[in-house]
Amino acid sequence: MKKFAFLSFLLLSAATLFAQTSDHLNCFAVLAGKGATTDGSVILAHNEDDSGEQMLNIYNVPRNSMGVNNKYIWVEFPGMEVSDAYLNEYGVAVASDGCNSREDREDYTDGGVLYEVRTLVAQQARSARHAAELIGKIVEQRGYRGSGRTYVVADCNEGWVVAVVRGRHWLAQRVPDNKVMTIPNYYCIGEVDLADTANFMGSPDIISYAEERGWYNPATDGKFLFRKAYSHPNYYNYDRNYVRHMSAMNYLTGEEYSTNPDEYPFAVTPNRKVAIADMMQILTSHGENVEVKIGGNRKGGHPVCICTDVTVTSTIFQLRSWLPVEIGAVMWATAASPCAEVYIPWYCGMTKSPDGFQRFSTAAEALEKHMSDSKDKRKNYPDAIAWKFVDRWHSVLEDYDGRIAAVQQKNAPFQQKLFKGQMKFEKSLRKFWDANTFEVVKPALLQEALNNYTADAYKEYYGIIGW
Ligand SMILES: [Zn+2]
Repeated sequence: MKKFAFLSFLLLSAATLFAQTSDHLNCFAVLAGKGATTDGSVILAHNEDDSGEQMLNIYNVPRNSMGVNNKYIWVEFPGMEVSDAYLNEYGVAVASDGCNSREDREDYTDGGVLYEVRTLVAQQARSARHAAELIGKIVEQRGYRGSGRTYVVADCNEGWVVAVVRGRHWLAQRVPDNKVMTIPNYYCIGEVDLADTANFMGSPDIISYAEERGWYNPATDGKFLFRKAYSHPNYYNYDRNYVRHMSAMNYLTGEEYSTNPDEYPFAVTPNRKVAIADMMQILTSHGENVEVKIGGNRKGGHPVCICTDVTVTSTIFQLRSWLPVEIGAVMWATAASPCAEVYIPWYCGMTKSPDGFQRFSTAAEALEKHMSDSKDKRKNYPDAIAWKFVDRWHSVLEDYDGRIAAVQQKNAPFQQKLFKGQMKFEKSLRKFWDANTFEVVKPALLQEALNNYTADAYKEYYGIIGW
């Protein structure tokens, strides 16, 4: 009896710990500086991981709608407060990874902010640096309502990571041009130098507040490391975090990192310049290149690492400065777990999503109902293309080991075709913009060409996979 009670206690404790941790452990981001990529683009790559019934929508929000100027592409998951990704008309992209902090004090004005943070970036940011400033400002003014998070923002010149902490503390760091940063679900900023304004910004009391709370003691801890001071200890040492981090860094550098996140650098210098295809390799990692395996289920044989059972979209923002932003900023996106899907390009200048990607005809209605109309999505919006992707993924998961090879064999040639077709397609767009001023001179024709390109790519893809 006693033994049984003790065993039950152990099982319950493990279950509780897992529930506490797994709920918040999702998403993975990679941010590459323009000097670290083969074509000179800044690349922001991101896996969005969310359990439960998730419905992918992608809206093209027109300029001057909803009281804001910016036009933007909005990757929306109805009912989710921290899952959406954006690419606006300035070529500013934003996504995020949950990073639990140890802050337990709530300090909010008007209920604090959460969902509003990245909408603000999409609607107002004119550069990645501006996006970081906007995030910091709203967190200071309103207080952040979640435990903690790292926003990843980028434009065609640079990338920034913005760590926010429950309440009003935040810290941002620029990713060096020749480096690649990889971010699981813990804070990755280590040393801090707010006097170096080219590379840092944040709350002026970020160190003194940690001292005051007993999270940092200069006498015993040595140099201040933001991630050590502010991370929730349970998440920092969790294998789901450091194993994914290791897998990405190992891939980029060819080195083998230890299982101790204290030894990880802020960003790594890759052993060659990286391309979109490298980002795809990282985001589809099943942990092949690490010895330590992540615990947990392996449904149908699908190994869990950076690619997970619940990766609901994978997006790669390729941000290039030598083309008009309408063409230079591209979002490559999958509509389910990336290991079973093709990344299809969505150009910044497009104005219309392919059929099935919008549950409402206007983005304004989608925004209004984002939280309020998020139950029974499949029943209420059965025609969405999202469900076909969800069902396709679940069918793969039923027998991952048996089915994935055939799926990938069908996908791979089409992915290659899209890569190869990119330059030719973009060359065909030159007639729509002025080479000297960079101005688009035939906007309506350019929009049509971009809209058709993405719509045709999906049509061709559906044909290949037999829809
Ligand atoms: Zn996978």
